[in-house]
Amino acid sequence: MRDDEYELIRSKRKSLSIEIRADGRIIVRVPMRIPLEEVREFVNSKESWIRTHQKIARERAEALKADERSRLSREKIRELAEKALLVIPDRVAYYAEKMGVTYGSITIRNQRTRWGSCSAKGNLNFNCLLMLAPPGVLDGVVVHELCHRIEMNHSKKFYEEVLRVYPEYRKSEKWLKENGRALLRRMTG
Ligand SMILES: [Zn+2]
Repeated sequence: MRDDEYELIRSKRKSLSIEIRADGRIIVRVPMRIPLEEVREFVNSKESWIRTHQKIARERAEALKADERSRLSREKIRELAEKALLVIPDRVAYYAEKMGVTYGSITIRNQRTRWGSCSAKGNLNFNCLLMLAPPGVLDGVVVHELCHRIEMNHSKKFYEEVLRVYPEYRKSEKWLKENGRALLRRMTG
């Protein structure tokens, strides 16, 4: 093995030891005055063991990272829903006043398909995953749903109203188009 493939730590100890860290790094601990040749010999004699365990550690680290990207724990989803209940009603109230529209109840949902909805009676639903998107995205969804209080469709007139209230709307729409699907996939259950 090359010298730069492992970290060498000299200390007041009598034996040599090898540790494979969770991220696959190799730590070799050796006595203070042992010659480098002896260290190399020791490391090389353990090479196949090192390679095997390094591979296992790296694969496990990769799997953990992939898991973080994909599924959110139920606990985390609960936290997001609680945060959404604090944040979203404020944004809705702010834009509703600005637009001069009324609305019914606000419900936070854990959904894998949509970001928000507005019923004919004006009841609003929002996905708690919006808490993981940039703040401007939440505002875009809030304005979109509130504009359905004026236009219950996605006509040209509807989008004109959306853009009038929230000129950054296209940016938030673009973010959802590019990242929304991956975010929705993280929903558990
Ligand atoms: Zn809509």
